[in-house]
Amino acid sequence: MSGDTNNDTPMMRQYARLKEQHRDAVLFFRLGDFYEMFRSDAVEASRILGLTLTQRGGVPMCGIPHHASGSYIARLIHAGKKVAICEQTKLPAGGGLAEREVVNVVTPGTLVEEDLLERSSNNYLLSIAAGSTEMSLVYTDLSTGELAGTVYPLEGAPLHLRAELTRLRPREVLVQESLLSDYPRIKAVLTESDRLLNSYPDWNYNLSESRKSLERVLGVVSLKGFGIADDSLLPLACGVLIEYLRDTSGSDLSHIRSLQQYSRQDHVQLDDATLRNLELLTNMHDGTSNYTLRRTLDFCRTSMGSRMLARWIGAPSTDMALVADRQENITRLYHNQMLLSSLREELGRVLDLERLASRVAMERAHPKDLVAIAASLEGILRLQELSSEYLGESSLPIRSSEEMEQISSMASHLRGALLDEPSVTIHEGGIFRDGFDPELDSLRGLSRDGARYLEEYLERERSVTGVSSLKIKHNRVLGYYLETTKSGAGSVPDHFIRRQSLSNAERFTTEELAGLEEGITGAEEGSNERERALFITIRDRCVPAIPLFLACADRTARLDCLASLALAATRNGYVRPELIEEPVLEIRAGRHPVVERHSADGSFVPNDLVLGGKSPLFRLVTGPNMAGKSTFLRQTALIVLMAQMGSFVPAEAARIGLVDRVFCRVGAQDNLARGESTFLVEMSETAAILRNAGPQSLVIMDEVGRGTGTTDGLAIATAVTEYLLETIGARTLFATHFHELTAMQAPQLGNLSLEVAETGGELIFRKRVVEGPSEQSYGVHVAALAGIPAAVVRRAEELLDQAHAELADGESTTANHASMSAGSSAKTGRPGTTSARSRTTELFSNEELLVNEITSISVENLTPLEALTKIAEWQKRLRG
Ligand code: ADP
Repeated sequence: MSGDTNNDTPMMRQYARLKEQHRDAVLFFRLGDFYEMFRSDAVEASRILGLTLTQRGGVPMCGIPHHASGSYIARLIHAGKKVAICEQTKLPAGGGLAEREVVNVVTPGTLVEEDLLERSSNNYLLSIAAGSTEMSLVYTDLSTGELAGTVYPLEGAPLHLRAELTRLRPREVLVQESLLSDYPRIKAVLTESDRLLNSYPDWNYNLSESRKSLERVLGVVSLKGFGIADDSLLPLACGVLIEYLRDTSGSDLSHIRSLQQYSRQDHVQLDDATLRNLELLTNMHDGTSNYTLRRTLDFCRTSMGSRMLARWIGAPSTDMALVADRQENITRLYHNQMLLSSLREELGRVLDLERLASRVAMERAHPKDLVAIAASLEGILRLQELSSEYLGESSLPIRSSEEMEQISSMASHLRGALLDEPSVTIHEGGIFRDGFDPELDSLRGLSRDGARYLEEYLERERSVTGVSSLKIKHNRVLGYYLETTKSGAGSVPDHFIRRQSLSNAERFTTEELAGLEEGITGAEEGSNERERALFITIRDRCVPAIPLFLACADRTARLDCLASLALAATRNGYVRPELIEEPVLEIRAGRHPVVERHSADGSFVPNDLVLGGKSPLFRLVTGPNMAGKSTFLRQTALIVLMAQMGSFVPAEAARIGLVDRVFCRVGAQDNLARGESTFLVEMSETAAILRNAGPQSLVIMDEVGRGTGTTDGLAIATAVTEYLLETIGARTLFATHFHELTAMQAPQLGNLSLEVAETGGELIFRKRVVEGPSEQSYGVHVAALAGIPAAVVRRAEELLDQAHAELADGESTTANHASMSAGSSAKTGRPGTTSARSRTTELFSNEELLVNEITSISVENLTPLEALTKIAEWQKRLRG
């Protein structure tokens, strides 16, 4: 092919034409046994894949063997690239240019390839579009056929979008161009991480066209059946989405059977900060699922179950009936451990029916997939048998006798047809059982008989020639041939035609042998072809059952989640919480589900909490650092969210009034990555709470105001507290290090603190929550624990005493103040800096100060002259 890469060759013109249509993808150009990449694709791919870049005719290129393409594609996708796969669709008889076509485009958000997908996670593609006042947000997982969407006001869209991005973690987003150009905050949210973003000009977004295209995919004449009103904006984001799915996958999307419309009110609203702070699905440390609620609760046996459980955790429900139903069925499993363990055993035999069924719909299922479907259907039948007496209908995988009939006949049809271990490809036979198809049997008979005919023929030739060393062998070049030793070759008859002479053997063919060979290979080819055709038929027979498969898959996933939660309750000692509508929260001996799992047995200290009812709705929580405040705050939110998933909770008893939103603002930690000031982020998140929280919400705030100076911080924390108490009235836990706040008084305000004991100058954190404010901040003690030099700690203690003395003086004038205002107490907190400086020399010896100064010098920033001057100065000070 040398010279072919020249721009003007027919092949490069063909390449240029294909590349033109797939400018945003790396084009894998099939050339014989290789996929070649050219020009900028080659430069980029060679960098990502570590391939050697070569030049032909001045064109940079690199290539990979076609049979090993999977892992290379995976790495490009992982790097956020799209890959367009171009195959040779026709080889011209007399040489010349092959016809080539892009057969599919692999993109991060539309993966269906088993080995590129994560088993226990959904792989979402998100599409967003805007009307005049609202936004349409739709997402899909092509590998499972899930399609869901919602409409929400444009006002506040960035926050909502950010929460959905955190919850769904889409790999790719389709967005209307004007959303990026006209709404900088939406653009900022979308470009925060490096997920693949595809923007489309506004003329692609036409509501009635989108609606029609959606109706066609779903096979309906109206969307009313999905609860989507005629004037709903929801379909707007679907048009582009559907077109994109079709273009990239080349499939007709027949496995996408419904659009699930959800509204924000259906589940507990969790903003982006809350989702991350509570470490529900991923941790803040490395973004994996280690040390998360998900990891603690996921005992699912199927990947469908794990995926569903992640969806439940990311969106606990606000629907009392739904939560109560899950809870009831978990309780039944919890009380029937025998059933629970046999269900789990059976669930272990169900494979990923969701993705298997989707592969059937996309004509990608191979013979092993159909056997996996049969095994899963059998598993589902056994699950039904095991659970139908004990569980409510909502938790059973099969809902009617017709369904049962259909599933068992499908399962036995597939089982009866397919070998237990069929081949993975459809071209080489080895798919069907004997006896399934008479025509296949007779073709197989012919090729098997062929072997017998060969034996008989060999016997005849041996007796005719008297050469007992005569053998029949086969290789790819000669096909079947007769072989003798050199010595036997002398006595072969005339009808033997010499094909090959080797040093120790001679090879022949005969007319009869050639005839036999034709019969044998013909029968083999015929039987392979027959198997292929039969397979396509049997796969097509599955197609009408896909909606049923997907429904059963969904229900099985649900059963798996319930079993997983029942097992988590059993293993971790959770109780069934009582759910009520009133805004009350009562937790007896609550624990943090994740921290306790990673603490030594029995070392986690449980704590009580009552908010609402006869107790204050709002609790300030004080205590030194490391006392256990954050853990207590977070465990409260987690217990509530677990309860609203339907799960049991880590406590001795719990009464939980359903919440509509949970806000969890904890410190200011990982926002620097976004390039915003921590304080600004802290304040905008606080603003979101104050604007969106209501009387049914749960607010968890930890250290608000820490991002700024003491005076400002205290003022802000006080004002926020006032507003939450007076205007919002949400159940609130507010941890603070501003002790001045604990003096505030209001009917719904109470103080809690974490108990700390001091023995022999050492602090012991008991991790126990007690009524009333904490005595002091103990910050200095913690500093000592952390290894701050003794001299510094001593000095800090002095300053603290001084500050307390000043505070006591000040308090005589402010003690009876209604304490709702921050100003007066805030002024008292800080010791005078002048006095601090003047006392330094008394506390630290000259030597101590010198050593300190020397060790803190950064030598690399010192000029030689400065160094000399320093030394002179020190000498002077030491000499007195
Ligand atoms: P704070 O927010 O007051 O600084 P943390 O909540 O971060 O304190 O807790 C400090 C440490 O104590 C953490 O390592 C945490 O795992 C542990 N811890 C917190 N609460 C408990 C508890 N109730 N029982 C046992 N260990 C706890």
